Amino acid sequence: MQINFLREIIEKISGKNAIELADILFNKKNVNEFLIAKKLSLTINQTRRILYCLSDFGLVSFIRKKDKRKGWYTYFWTLNIGRALKVLHKEIDEEINQLEHQLKSRQVKRFYTCKTCVKEVNEETALINNFICKECGSVYKLNENKKAINELNSKLNFLKKERQEVEKEIKIIDEKEQKAKQRKEKREIDIKKAERKKKAVIRKKEREKEAKRAGKKLKKKKKPKKKKQKKIKKKKPKKKAKKKAVKKKPKKKFKKKRKK
Ligand SMILES: [Zn+2]
Repeated sequence: MQINFLREIIEKISGKNAIELADILFNKKNVNEFLIAKKLSLTINQTRRILYCLSDFGLVSFIRKKDKRKGWYTYFWTLNIGRALKVLHKEIDEEINQLEHQLKSRQVKRFYTCKTCVKEVNEETALINNFICKECGSVYKLNENKKAINELNSKLNFLKKERQEVEKEIKIIDEKEQKAKQRKEKREIDIKKAERKKKAVIRKKEREKEAKRAGKKLKKKKKPKKKKQKKIKKKKPKKKAKKKAVKKKPKKKFKKKRKK
């Protein structure tokens, strides 16, 4: 079903010459433009014109590679199926709107035909000309609107069914793309987590190595450090002690004085 839709939209945009492009690019990636031209039986310039036109609508995308010897670029094309279906959906929508407009006017207004010229006019034109064809003088005949209305209705039904099917395909593709996106995001998160873990392990190992290296030195260094700290801590109480001592000293002096 998808391939028919793709053929349809490519034809609508680029004409009958390009229809086969749908088959050439379907479910492939980065197809060489010279291969495309060969398969379409077109010149490379004709092929490029078609592809550029389709790329304006976002239906195809390309990557290019430079030929190192010749210095020119070769283009490789990929069909964007999701985008193509969305463009087709829009086209069908517009067609449905037009037909519905026609249907309404058929249901409300009268139309006349000159059977000689096979030409249709609306009621106003027929009235102005007194129901006589300007070109050949035949009398206009009232159209049977029923036939036209039936034709419009069957066209509309067909298009509405097609639109539904296109919508289904778009939904499938959107879901696939979303899942792929989620998978990609999850993968990226997993990679980041793994990197963080690795880095954490490396850091831990480095810390352990440093600790081992420093450990031998630290054993020697740590002890004096601890002593210094202890000294600092002791200093405060010492001051108090000194103060106490100072306070005590005069007492002693007094005692001494008293002794004297
Ligand atoms: Zn006529």
